[in-house]
Amino acid sequence: MEFVRPRPNFPKKAVVTGGMPYGNKLLHFGHVGMAVRADIFARFLRDRIGKENVVFVSGTDCYGSPAVEAFRKLQQAGQYKDKTIRDFIQINHDKQYETFKNFEVSFNLYGASALGRSGEIHNEVSDWFVKALDNANMVSKHGSLQFFDKKNNCLLNGRQVVGKCPIQGCQSEKGYADECDLGHQYLPQDLIDPVSTLSGETPELVKVENLYFNLENCLPELKEWIASIERNPDTAPFMVKEIKEFFKDPEIYIKREYFEKLKEIKAQLPPHTEPEINEKAPSTTLIFAHLSDREKACEILAKNDIHYRTGKCMTPFRLTGDIAWGVPCPEIQGIKGQTFYVWPESLWAPISFTKTYLESIGKDKDEWKKYWCSKDAQVYQFLGEDNIYFYGPAQQMMFLSTQGKDWKFDAPEGSLQITKICPIKSILYMNQKASSSGAVKPPMADEFLKYYTAEQFRLHLMAMNLTNNNVGLSPKAFNPDAKAEDADPMVTEGNLLTNVYNRVLRTMFYTLQNNFDAIIPTAEIDESTMEICRKAILDVETFMYNKKFNQVFNIIDVFIRNINKYWVKEFNSADTKEKLAHLVANTMQFIAVADVLIHPVAPSGAERVADMIGLDKDKAFNWNNIFDKFYTWLDSSKQGKIVPIKEKEDFFKRHAWQLEQMYGNANK
Ligand SMILES: [Zn+2]
Repeated sequence: MEFVRPRPNFPKKAVVTGGMPYGNKLLHFGHVGMAVRADIFARFLRDRIGKENVVFVSGTDCYGSPAVEAFRKLQQAGQYKDKTIRDFIQINHDKQYETFKNFEVSFNLYGASALGRSGEIHNEVSDWFVKALDNANMVSKHGSLQFFDKKNNCLLNGRQVVGKCPIQGCQSEKGYADECDLGHQYLPQDLIDPVSTLSGETPELVKVENLYFNLENCLPELKEWIASIERNPDTAPFMVKEIKEFFKDPEIYIKREYFEKLKEIKAQLPPHTEPEINEKAPSTTLIFAHLSDREKACEILAKNDIHYRTGKCMTPFRLTGDIAWGVPCPEIQGIKGQTFYVWPESLWAPISFTKTYLESIGKDKDEWKKYWCSKDAQVYQFLGEDNIYFYGPAQQMMFLSTQGKDWKFDAPEGSLQITKICPIKSILYMNQKASSSGAVKPPMADEFLKYYTAEQFRLHLMAMNLTNNNVGLSPKAFNPDAKAEDADPMVTEGNLLTNVYNRVLRTMFYTLQNNFDAIIPTAEIDESTMEICRKAILDVETFMYNKKFNQVFNIIDVFIRNINKYWVKEFNSADTKEKLAHLVANTMQFIAVADVLIHPVAPSGAERVADMIGLDKDKAFNWNNIFDKFYTWLDSSKQGKIVPIKEKEDFFKRHAWQLEQMYGNANK
């Protein structure tokens, strides 16, 4: 019996989404890079399971203290004088959307958490969501300490305080009130050397009450989730490792210089263990069974001037705050007049965007559940590594908790399901970690389009192996050290289309124009041709399923290069018109399959080729037909007639800047 390799199971319906760009700035290449990878997958899914079954949404993350702080600084500098913060965010949102469109990112909806219809629906979803969590007994009130600026007589929100992150081993230079720019979360009282950005002075801590999601109670379900995915080939090992770090009991680390002081007060500390007591060790670890015990211990240590750091563990996840620029939170457990903290509401925002999109195309108000609450559906989230904690533990456990009091890991049909997280490592810029708040400023995304086509950018991003490595982006156009003769890494993959695929397409079109009156002849396609296509299609399908986009690129690369080789090898023996027709039929099969395989990454080019060949795009870009002969994909009204091309016509184009570099201004 022949071995038939199993094909991956795709869902009936899918949502594709990703991290949301903040509303306080325009997009740099990292935002677009992430969205392009999500777009490649969304476009693939549309071809694979039907475009009516795929919803690809994202939007501007409008609220929160970074936006307030950015707007305050701009107004202070004399900008946006007669504008509100809402106007400021709207302007940025519109520009963000424009940039995504320029890179051919095909959102069904690019919403905004504060603006328009998506903002209205987001308020309703937020109200529903927090009430569902409260009904499941998963919300608690906690008094927490918040920074207070005495000089300005005001509470300070997250970004208005900067200090050093207290998490052991953290390299961040920017620790905000309760999280650092690398995504660690901690209590405000643990932040080291806090400074108010308003006054430049050390702020005081005052007690405020907020609502929290009881994430610290979710360890069993969290472990079930990780156990259910850790052996899947589409799970990134670094994500599993990072989440497991939060499975530890609450720990405190204390350096040797404080050992003497620690001895004196040890009896006052709540119950704990200290596994390796060693006077000569550089530090010691205290382990607590309960988070509340660790918090008490921290207070005692601080009172006695013993410096410490805390380890990762599951902590309550803050839901609310007092920033006026936020989604209003309904009254819960007597707490009223608060707004949602920006992280939790951004986690359910894609649900709001899905509802907004489905409403805009006239669907029923419960239609979103077919995408988010069904075992037949799957939500795919494309994220940077810094967001794993939020979309991993925090989001998944909040989603499950909306079931009600007896919520469990295996969510029933009709309730929010666990999503599939597709994280990537960092895209480095000129081999450094670039961020808009860091020392190395990344170029804005639109800058790239002055030197590269969207197709070249997309192909380069696709070919990066980001599933377990950081990968560098070193565009020649931005590299002052590049020599004239150096190859440009940004266009390496694009050459596959602008050189190799262009060449075989031109050869085919000239052959048809010169020998067959520009009409595709009907001839037999060999079984061996169909088998080569079939193998490439199945490889692409598997690697796409596993989000190994660099492997997908490699398969397509070899496939397209082999079309040229096949043509060159067979051409000399095609010495009669009948034999030539046979060669054309086989080569056209390869060309058409290649066009379908590149469609997700180079959509407009692939569609142009389909139009010129005379394919019916609905039939061709539909995986239900992908193992059929290309003749069945032809638009019957065209009767096999191609659109004739002129001398040297390019199907896939280089950027004008690159042509100038190659041929000088004479080519203009
Ligand atoms: Zn940190």
